[in-house]
Amino acid sequence: MPLMSKPTLLQIAMEAEAAPVAKALALGSPQPLHQHLPATIRTGGSPSAPLALVTQGHDSRFNVDAIGTQPAALTAWVAATRLSPRLIINAGTAGGFEKHGAAIGDVYLSEGPVVYHHRRIPLGNFEPYGVGSYPTVDVSAIARRLGLKLGKLTTGDSLDMSEQDARQIAASGSSIKDMEGAAVAWVASLMQIPFIAVKSITDLVDAPHPTADQFVTNLDRAVARLAAALPAVFNELDRSSV
Ligand code: SAH
Repeated sequence: MPLMSKPTLLQIAMEAEAAPVAKALALGSPQPLHQHLPATIRTGGSPSAPLALVTQGHDSRFNVDAIGTQPAALTAWVAATRLSPRLIINAGTAGGFEKHGAAIGDVYLSEGPVVYHHRRIPLGNFEPYGVGSYPTVDVSAIARRLGLKLGKLTTGDSLDMSEQDARQIAASGSSIKDMEGAAVAWVASLMQIPFIAVKSITDLVDAPHPTADQFVTNLDRAVARLAAALPAVFNELDRSSV
């Protein structure tokens, strides 16, 4: 009997990001991932390329999506221990930088390690521990074939960017900024599962308009671009057996 193919695990923070992606990939309806977590899981794909999409779910206390690194790590851990995926993809939205040529709706694939920009611990080895620097699979050939951008992803638990964050981001050479990527990449590295991120730009962090306003204005457009790009990314990943 042939072995069941291991699934690809796609993790997305917000339901507004996940719903159009689930539709584009013809996935089932969301089910609870775990009795004590708000996270959800949808499954689909084909027998040779099964796919599970998890979201971090809804925080009922604050009536918002459970974004950020804590739910990201917990959701990734529970989903990955249950599914033993062959690959973990953290998809969603991110801030980009005008100075690095980003435009709203650009879809980026991760390049190089994922770092944190808000964990500053200048105490010997705690300093690089804070930065993290978790590996990603090299998908530069896929980005070139699909006409997607490549960028180093940096994660922090704030939507805004403090001056210290900005210095850290410039020093690491990062060009996309989110609130989950490094947390998911950390879990993937603990479990020795290959990891990539796919992020669509909702806002330009170095533009004069407030980031939160840009995010709300551009969310639908950026998510539509993400949902359009992901099926092609999956095809390429299957073909290149990443
Ligand atoms: N204000 C939004 C809240 C979403 S916060 C709302 O009202 O719905 C931003 C989410 O998108 C996070 O999950 C994060 O990963 C991503 N994101 C988009 N732009 C970002 C940026 N400039 N900095 C950090 N995260 C960003």
